[in-house]
Amino acid sequence: MTPPTHARAVIIGGGVIGASVAWHLTKLGWTDVVLLERKRLTSGTTWHAAGLIGQLRATANMTRLARYSAELYGGLEAETGIATGFRQVGSISVALTEARHEELLRLASMARAFGVPTEEVGPTEITDRYPHLNLDGVIGGVWLPTDGQGDPANITLAMIKGARQRGAQVFENTRVTGIRRTGDRVTGVDWEAGETSGLIACDHVVNCAGMWGREVGLMAGVPVPLQACEHFYIVTEPIAGLTQLPVLRVPDECAYYKEDAGKMMLGAFEPNAKPWALDGIPADFEFDELPPDFDHFEPILENAIHRMPMLAEAGIHTFFNGPESFTPDNAYHLGLAPGTANVWVAAGFNSVGIQSAGGAGMALAQWMEDGAQPFDLGDVDIARMQPFQNNRRYLKDRATEALGLLYADHFPYRQKATARGVRRSPLHHLLEAHGAVMGEIAGWERANWFAAPGQEREYRYGWGRQNWFENTAAEVAAIRTGVGMYEMSSFGKIRVEGPDAEAFLNRVCGNDVAVPPGRIVYTQFLNAKGGIAADVTVTRLSEDAYLVVTPAATRPADQDWLERRRGEARVAIVDVTAGEAVLAVMGPRARAVLAAASPGDFDRFPFGTAREIELGLGLARAHRVSYVGELGWAGRSMSAPTWPSTPSRR
Ligand SMILES: Cc1cc2nc3c(=O)[nH]c(=O)nc-3n(C[C@H](O)[C@H](O)[C@H](O)COP(=O)(O)OP(=O)(O)OC[C@H]3O[C@@H](n4cnc5c(N)ncnc54)[C@H](O)[C@@H]3O)c2cc1C
Repeated sequence: MTPPTHARAVIIGGGVIGASVAWHLTKLGWTDVVLLERKRLTSGTTWHAAGLIGQLRATANMTRLARYSAELYGGLEAETGIATGFRQVGSISVALTEARHEELLRLASMARAFGVPTEEVGPTEITDRYPHLNLDGVIGGVWLPTDGQGDPANITLAMIKGARQRGAQVFENTRVTGIRRTGDRVTGVDWEAGETSGLIACDHVVNCAGMWGREVGLMAGVPVPLQACEHFYIVTEPIAGLTQLPVLRVPDECAYYKEDAGKMMLGAFEPNAKPWALDGIPADFEFDELPPDFDHFEPILENAIHRMPMLAEAGIHTFFNGPESFTPDNAYHLGLAPGTANVWVAAGFNSVGIQSAGGAGMALAQWMEDGAQPFDLGDVDIARMQPFQNNRRYLKDRATEALGLLYADHFPYRQKATARGVRRSPLHHLLEAHGAVMGEIAGWERANWFAAPGQEREYRYGWGRQNWFENTAAEVAAIRTGVGMYEMSSFGKIRVEGPDAEAFLNRVCGNDVAVPPGRIVYTQFLNAKGGIAADVTVTRLSEDAYLVVTPAATRPADQDWLERRRGEARVAIVDVTAGEAVLAVMGPRARAVLAAASPGDFDRFPFGTAREIELGLGLARAHRVSYVGELGWAGRSMSAPTWPSTPSRR
């Protein structure tokens, strides 16, 4: 049988994610669904996953999705008749340091808040549940009785079976070779199966291609930033007397443990992770393993033997090394690809694809059905990615680091060490000269705080008061009582210009932007339910030009949001971020500082207005706004022609 010539949705990839999307779309009544798998089902990453199904996630919505997966898998066997191996064995995560203990307790309280049963446990209760564990250095931990483990391949096949029963068509050994796109719409998917090839015209395409996700994304002109990296585990020979145990995580030793059929599995998330297939994934990859690297794994094993002495006696049956895709921020990519009307992505699962698949598939299917996110999916929305993040050198460094941090302490304010310096403001060198300690967001280097003379310019991470607390306190006090100047060039700046600019922005903004040129309107982009899609200021530059200012990290998503709603409006929507450097001068004495620096009249300069001022030998545009609750201006250099291009009619 060959694939049909038309489908409502074509899903690319027959791993656990593609299966879940197919399952959930068909649950919603989408019967005209086709899934194409280049080799055999599960033959990419899914077949060799360890099968841990945990629910302790870093944010509320991710916890909600992981919880949904666990609940779904619990009922799959009854619904499909396929033994998924799902067992609710529970899990224990233990802390060897006070910092880790604090993190676990925080995660546990969030999990509890979202209905995941969670208990804090001390060493005695840990021994009761896990007698094989050496308690040396164990401070405490958390116990999640409803966490589980399952057989990833069979979970996938069960969802495929259910989807098929509801009308989905699944084709193995059928490779997608191209995606046809006209404007923002994909119109069809080219496939090849041995000597046969064809085209499926489709209304939607879903990229569930795992570590091939970047490559498949490019077929549709869509960046899907991810990189394959190696992931290791061992499985012992059968251990006499070993019976069902909870899953155990010892993140301080980079290790997780799973009992399976009387054998012990030990997996690692080591800090020095290894990227794989930098020149592309071999075309014949199918149920493949990567070469073992025992030297790399040995330090983990040594610690594990100390932690779980029975491992010293157990022979190693399997040393496994398999690839998995990792993203720059350790969150997977889900949703509608920016710039497109019908290209959907669910890829880059950072070694939690099994536990995430149920929730991710449910959320994506509902999003496709409604045309809107079913709830806030900002943590994983593909639109959070900046286009530059698809750069392969960047991905090699950053995705590898992200994998290395999986079992690190996830301290607040933690900065990434690799792939830095992507975007610098014109003032970067001046900030550095004044002791700036840089942080990064969306590729931008920003002065997060300023070290005092002689003070080390380093973060000392922790859960309590930060080592830069006093520095920031001094900045805040200066702005509260005097004046301070800080750099905000990373602000996203979107110029919306054209005869319909006013009508268009008034359609998408909550506030009224039909104001005279030179006025600033603080407003939100609102979705159809009245929810907030973006929080922006809109400055009217002229009769037909506006400047929308938005956070650095959300500029691509906010611009995409505008583009999607443009319709027939005669407007150009252009990113002018790089054309304007921004300095904020804030505090009760801001007026005096500006008056000393510029001949402009800062006494008669009302709040919520913007105007051109002279500064040094040049011109700037000063916006009377405040980000601190005090008097203030944000001044923008005028290297690009951003001021009225047409005379005002108001
Ligand atoms: C060693 C190891 C242990 C793991 N343990 C766990 C765990 O305990 N718990 C957990 O939650 N996660 C775990 N994971 C992660 C989990 O396995 C993955 O996140 C998950 O399998 C990803 O599923 P996927 O469907 O995105 O990718 P895949 O399973 O790789 O599926 C993608 C499919 O797309 C197909 N494809 C690609 N290109 C095309 C094309 N052009 N045309 C048609 N088809 C195409 C591929 O052939 C592939 O089958 C582990 C991973 C590894 C490596």
